[in-house]
Amino acid sequence: MHPHRRPLADVDSAVFDSIQKEEARQENNLELIASENIASTAVREAMMSVFTDKYAEGYPGRRYYGGCENADVVEQLAIDRLKALYGAGFANVQPHSGAQANMAVYHAFLKPGDRLMGLSLPEGGHLTHGSPVAFSGQMYEILPYGLKDDETIDYDAMRKLAIEAKPKMIVSGASAYSRNIDFEFFNKVAKEVGAMHMVDMAHYSGLIAGGAYPNPVPHADVVTSTTHKSLRGPRGGFILYSNEELDKPIRMSVFPGLQGGPLMHVIAAKAVAFGLCLQPEWKDYAAQIVANAKALAAELTAQGLRIVSGGTDSHLMLVDLRPYGVNGKIAQNALDHANITTNKNSIPNDPEKPFVTSGIRLGTPAVTTRGMKEAEMVEIAGYIAEVLRAPDDEAVVAQVKQKVIDLTNRFSLNAV
Ligand SMILES: *Cc1c(COP(=O)(O)O)cnc(C)c1O
Repeated sequence: MHPHRRPLADVDSAVFDSIQKEEARQENNLELIASENIASTAVREAMMSVFTDKYAEGYPGRRYYGGCENADVVEQLAIDRLKALYGAGFANVQPHSGAQANMAVYHAFLKPGDRLMGLSLPEGGHLTHGSPVAFSGQMYEILPYGLKDDETIDYDAMRKLAIEAKPKMIVSGASAYSRNIDFEFFNKVAKEVGAMHMVDMAHYSGLIAGGAYPNPVPHADVVTSTTHKSLRGPRGGFILYSNEELDKPIRMSVFPGLQGGPLMHVIAAKAVAFGLCLQPEWKDYAAQIVANAKALAAELTAQGLRIVSGGTDSHLMLVDLRPYGVNGKIAQNALDHANITTNKNSIPNDPEKPFVTSGIRLGTPAVTTRGMKEAEMVEIAGYIAEVLRAPDDEAVVAQVKQKVIDLTNRFSLNAV
């Protein structure tokens, strides 16, 4: 064997070991982090391919490097599949991440100091929608909108703010908002005040691909997304739009504006993931994710916890833990010990600090990938309630952990 072809286990046992352990962790834990999923073997195979070696600055057919004929084919496949999936006129599959897709759109159309409206971070928005700790909040003048008393988006107040402030861009989309978003209304308001409307569908894009959540593409100037959340692809981002006038600014903003060479191995994996989303079975997967989230929310409610806004229309939910007298930090930690992986998350008007919180965010894309259905969601809600009723009771936590391992064994990812 050429020394260059020695397997990882021989070359670097330390890294090999941590990969083995991560594989075991994923196998034996219930992954309920709403932004995570479990990529398929085909996606990972494309991602670990020789395309990692290739420089392909530019776009298909117009590269700054030689030898790009195969890169051209694979990037064009990704573009064509993505356009077909969402019914968009143009697609850019080069952003390295969701944050970079957003940054590319802002960089294309906003100047420093321009006004940007987005859902506030503590009410479900994303860092890239104008948080003061992120580039978006430091570079632009941010006008956040928020939620009503019923914990759904305050559309009237958002419109009023837009009319007053005349922002250059309105961003809709969220990271911790469980309900349908009225993208059409956002678009009307944007048009009314002469703003661009950008939808960041990072969390919902897999559901949208399967018809299980409203498609924002007809109601936005630009749509951005990640590829690794409900979409179940490799880590990455993309941008969609249909107006030809936006094409040059967006292309130039991604490359050479913000990025150098595209990650061709990741783009190959994106092409695979988009291809899987175009299969008829994807609709069943997307519908099951939402059915599972509704079942999980209903049973947690039955167990005495409160779901923010009263329920979910999507893959995720925020759980208000105050009825049990525990905070998010304690809950996340105790659930971790029972092999249930979640993240603490602020709830609307949270009295606790962001590092403590009164809530956890749960999502069903990963457990649905394993094949779990409503019956398992009821079971999982029971385990969560058991742990959160006695987060300090090591015996209870250990018992739940054993039941979780039995459940993950029944839905093994390694079953052949
Ligand atoms: C996850 C997320 C992003 C950022 O994606 P990264 O790939 O982590 O940079 C952007 N916007 C929203 C709404 C998200 O939920």
